[in-house]
Amino acid sequence: MSILVCGGAGYVGSHCLEALKAAGYDCVVVDDLSRGHRAAVGESPLYVGNIADDALMDRVFREHHIEVVLHFAAASQVGESMKEPLLYYENNLCATVALLRSMRRHEVGRIVFSSSAAVYGEPDTVPIPEESPKAPTNTYGETKLAMERLMHWCHVAYGLEYVSLRYFNAAGASPSGIIGEDHTPETHLIPLVLQAAQGRREKVSIFGDDYPTPDGTCIRDYIHTSDLASAHLLAARRLLAGEGSGIFNLGSEHGLSVRQIIDAARKVTGRDFPVEVAPRRAGDPAVLIASNRKAREELGWVPAHSDAESILASAWAWHSSHPDGFGDR
Ligand code: UDP
Repeated sequence: MSILVCGGAGYVGSHCLEALKAAGYDCVVVDDLSRGHRAAVGESPLYVGNIADDALMDRVFREHHIEVVLHFAAASQVGESMKEPLLYYENNLCATVALLRSMRRHEVGRIVFSSSAAVYGEPDTVPIPEESPKAPTNTYGETKLAMERLMHWCHVAYGLEYVSLRYFNAAGASPSGIIGEDHTPETHLIPLVLQAAQGRREKVSIFGDDYPTPDGTCIRDYIHTSDLASAHLLAARRLLAGEGSGIFNLGSEHGLSVRQIIDAARKVTGRDFPVEVAPRRAGDPAVLIASNRKAREELGWVPAHSDAESILASAWAWHSSHPDGFGDR
């Protein structure tokens, strides 16, 4: 029995892959390496190609006995999604249609899927429960919502069992020290702040300090990749045990402002770096904090590594040992 990890060379995918292997599962990876890194896959069999390539997927499903698919393969930059909506619909939604078709051809009926807090848009209530209105403010969130609805209708029509996991802000690096966050270009706050602490960036820009929050900067719910990985294990087990489909937020229920992240980074790294206030970034809600009650109650998930110190210390260890990331770009 194997688990197919689509997008297993990417940031969250590789952290989940590492946890699945540590838990004793045989894993197979498909990744086109457009954004992922070969070194992040380790020793697992890697098929380099796109999940929309039917011939490739037929080969993967024929060569391995796949019981469940974990689907991380997607483009995930909000800003880019606003400039390139066709790319996002193609990469995210169309490719997922193709993946589900391949799964159907090979009678694989279980999938764990990476969704996002971006499906909510500007929330009415914080912390955000799963049943909150879904009104994405960007193309990225819209494609994730469309993928969720696709899973739902495939569940109704074909009996597909799926678990959709809505990540809040994925952050941190594996305690193994082997994998971490490496995007090109880098757009995420924590790696940018740590690169400034390393002196690799001149300064950190705070995107707006006039939000209705205590210090005026945006508040996000940062969730450690180790906690995301444990949730994926629980989700895969749930499907394998026949316990049915579900949609769950993955967040810590704890918000940190941009300034709090910068302060925590100064403390963890022991380094100072220049900070400037820049204009707001389009489409940024002021506060995004998850309610994680459902995941705790129904999956038995306990996020244990998502305090600022653990996130920043693990990310700092990775950035310090891998100043050029995986060094393949
Ligand atoms: N942010 C910032 N400066 C940066 C990058 C991000 O102030 O250089 C802010 C951004 O506006 C948001 C928060 O940091 O409020 C987290 O942004 P990130 O891009 O890491 O994740 P997102 O919330 O977009 O998924």
